[in-house]
Amino acid sequence: MTTSANPELQISPMPSRQLPKLARIVVKVGSAVIAGDGNVRPEIFAALANDVADVRARGIDVVLVVSGAVALGYRGCGFATVPSDVVQRQAAASVGQPKLMAALDHHLGQHGIATAQLLMSADDIENRRRFLSARHTLQALLAAGVVPVINENDALSDDETKVGDNDHLAALTTSVASADLLVLLSRVAGLYRNGDGEIISEISIDAPLADHINDSLSDTGVGGMKAKVSAAQIAARWGVPTIIADGTTSGTLQKLLNNEPIGTYFAPNTRKLDARKQWIAVRSRSRGSVWVDGGAQTAVAERGASLLAKGITQVHGDFTIGARIEVCDADGQPFALGLASYSADEMRRVAGHKAHEIQDILGYVYVDEMVHRDDMVLLQEATP
Ligand code: GLU
Repeated sequence: MTTSANPELQISPMPSRQLPKLARIVVKVGSAVIAGDGNVRPEIFAALANDVADVRARGIDVVLVVSGAVALGYRGCGFATVPSDVVQRQAAASVGQPKLMAALDHHLGQHGIATAQLLMSADDIENRRRFLSARHTLQALLAAGVVPVINENDALSDDETKVGDNDHLAALTTSVASADLLVLLSRVAGLYRNGDGEIISEISIDAPLADHINDSLSDTGVGGMKAKVSAAQIAARWGVPTIIADGTTSGTLQKLLNNEPIGTYFAPNTRKLDARKQWIAVRSRSRGSVWVDGGAQTAVAERGASLLAKGITQVHGDFTIGARIEVCDADGQPFALGLASYSADEMRRVAGHKAHEIQDILGYVYVDEMVHRDDMVLLQEATP
């Protein structure tokens, strides 16, 4: 008699979770996990490297987003605590980032895995050329068997050019890397249910998640639970599920990939945007907005039309060609996001006019559309 014939042993002790088929995952590790008192926690790096090696042995690519530049650098700058001042944080990050990479390179190197550093800012996502360039670099690294390690370019970015927190950066990275799972490893073991305080094993991204967010920030990180849930919502826009799990114990990634229901799994909706529409929806900010009349709104939202100057009633902000803007209804409520074919000043001049009048008004015509259909995403497509 084999053990499986014993009915008691056939009962699984925990409900299992079914992850989608995975080819590539993005794993974000928070500062509070990797650093303690301003120093590298070698046991954490060793466990992470072990986990990453295991995931790759399953034929799954790994892209790491690792925080900790500031947390590992402030002491080297002579600061007693993690600074809050922007410039002091930039200085600390430039001291800590090489320490972070040295530790990762050492521990992954023990498994024969090479690492690469990519320091990004919001511009690398918002500018289409830079986005594609980052995508190509990632693809080439992964094809070469290298583990790309991404962090924000903290040393040089200021608040204006930053994505802001690495949970958000990791969510955007799932789009750049065409990954199919986002794992956020932190000191928090998951999303705790408001009420019984239990970790929610699985929750739909459409559920009222805010009810369960009890936000507390770690000393070194900038995210907190709100940022993690918001990151999960971003990844879900292109159909990528997110898991928040405890990063302080070893073997977490193995357990996750074995479908053990640890942490919280955020199930995305099934709608998926194509790659270009994803990119339009990925930005954290729009640079301006246009308000349109009812006719233009119906044409854009219901008939799949481009936005023409005729329907524009107001132009807000100071944007250039190619910037992402919001397309709003007559009450100023955004219903679409799109890339501007003309600058804000040009749009103000031609707003309310027919396409054939653009030449007379501006003295030139780039295209007839103010926002072309191919450059537009309806919010109902992009928001879960
Ligand atoms: N990029 C920051 C760092 O490496 C961390 C940002 C975050 O905690 O989300 O120090």
